[in-house]
Amino acid sequence: MRLATVRPPGLEHAVAAQIVDGLAVPFPPNWTVERLLSVDAEDRPPPGKAAWPVADVQLLAPIPTPGAIFGIGRNYAAHAAELGNDVPEAPTVFAKLSRSSTAPGGPIRLPSIASFVDYEGELAVVMGEGGKVAGYAIANDVSARDLQFEPSGGGQWTRGKGADTFCPWGPWITTEDEVPDPHELHLRTYVNDELRQEAMTSDLIFKIPRLIEHISQITALQPGDLILTGTPEGVGWAREPRVGLASGDVVRVEIDLLGSIESRVA
Ligand code: MG
Repeated sequence: MRLATVRPPGLEHAVAAQIVDGLAVPFPPNWTVERLLSVDAEDRPPPGKAAWPVADVQLLAPIPTPGAIFGIGRNYAAHAAELGNDVPEAPTVFAKLSRSSTAPGGPIRLPSIASFVDYEGELAVVMGEGGKVAGYAIANDVSARDLQFEPSGGGQWTRGKGADTFCPWGPWITTEDEVPDPHELHLRTYVNDELRQEAMTSDLIFKIPRLIEHISQITALQPGDLILTGTPEGVGWAREPRVGLASGDVVRVEIDLLGSIESRVA
């Protein structure tokens, strides 16, 4: 099942919807995607009868403001190497602010104080009840490298990665029953149709169960929490010469089975 939060044509409010056969079919009022993830699949209400073509609705972030967004640093060996880092012995966990969550279509807004904003295409794990995985989505862990690495800060990841609009994700949540093996997915990131990142999630150093176990040592993961599993090699900061995102650029991240997100930089 594909779960989305959409704004239908002519309506001001957002509704939870199932995406099926190119249509957005709304769930009953009072059912948010977060609430749908907090109950077992058989306890979810059936979607209603009205439907809109997906092309006619605005796709919002599947959960507009997740309770928590965790990021994992250096979880692909080739990406650790391109930034001159060793492979860590345990998962490197950081937090993105919930308010960085934004629609899969963006826009990504460049903060006026940041001079180098980068993309990171990633597989996102969406948590369900009881520490179990509810589904998967695509995320862009947008990162202001100058803030992340500013010499005075000694590595300020929340400052570099937590800005408003720095987490476009979606386009919907594909429930876990439709993803036979999340560690066998093909990920690609394009900037203005130029391929920049390409990897298999089988290359993740720390697999999803380990990430969940590691984060759960400090907090009980809640339905709708996100874990961004890390980005493969090919970020703009590691290119020769370095190239950051500019206003007007379009970043597209694709993952097998999960669809694609395409965000404009403003
Ligand atoms: Mg990342």
